[in-house]
Amino acid sequence: MTKPWGLAAVHQNIERACRDAGRDPATVTLVAISKTFGADAIEPVIAAGQRVFGENRVQEAKAKWPRLLDGHPGIALHLVGSLQSNKAKDAVALFDAVHSLDRASLAEALGKEIAKQSRRPLLFVEINTGAEAQKSGVLPQDADGFLAACRNQYGLSVSGLMCIPPADEAPAPHFALTAQIAKRNGLQLLSMGMSADFEVAIAFGATHVRVGTAIFGARSQPG
Ligand SMILES: *Cc1c(COP(=O)(O)O)cnc(C)c1O
Repeated sequence: MTKPWGLAAVHQNIERACRDAGRDPATVTLVAISKTFGADAIEPVIAAGQRVFGENRVQEAKAKWPRLLDGHPGIALHLVGSLQSNKAKDAVALFDAVHSLDRASLAEALGKEIAKQSRRPLLFVEINTGAEAQKSGVLPQDADGFLAACRNQYGLSVSGLMCIPPADEAPAPHFALTAQIAKRNGLQLLSMGMSADFEVAIAFGATHVRVGTAIFGARSQPG
């Protein structure tokens, strides 16, 4: 499947989903997930006005983004994939947001780097709403305790939650659960929704939708 570049279509769908939910489209940030795509695919999306991009690997982002950022000030880079603690330094240096804070050792590493570098990336705690063994993320029942530890032990200011619903289930209950955990912890931001389900996520309050395929077309390699 090769789908043409669809940034305009994604914008229209976000606007429609916001209208249906009675929300202001300005409250939804589109994070264009450019993993596996090179500068030739990313440049036209920047030229069309997109300013927030997401990657899932620190190494890949380090290899391709510094040059792209040089030519285009005002771009924000978000890390959406799992982060090894030994890459926290690079991640804090390069990314404006980390969507995948999922364990105490990473919270500790990020806390140290944030204190050392004068950068304050937006932080999202990833919730494993489906309790899937192969997936990272904090279990729903551990979320409140983990958020308290981030604040009190590691000095982190967490802004929101992120989730990736199980591929074979309806996403709505997972988005609802994530929104509920955020609400009771006083968190404003929700990173939920990918190409297949961002409209549903918007109905459940997503403030950040992470959309790759619907913008760039199908990936030839796994992310
Ligand atoms: C790849 C990826 C996305 C984008 O997925 P699409 O289905 O291509 O929109 C979103 N979030 C994360 C964490 C990803 O790894």
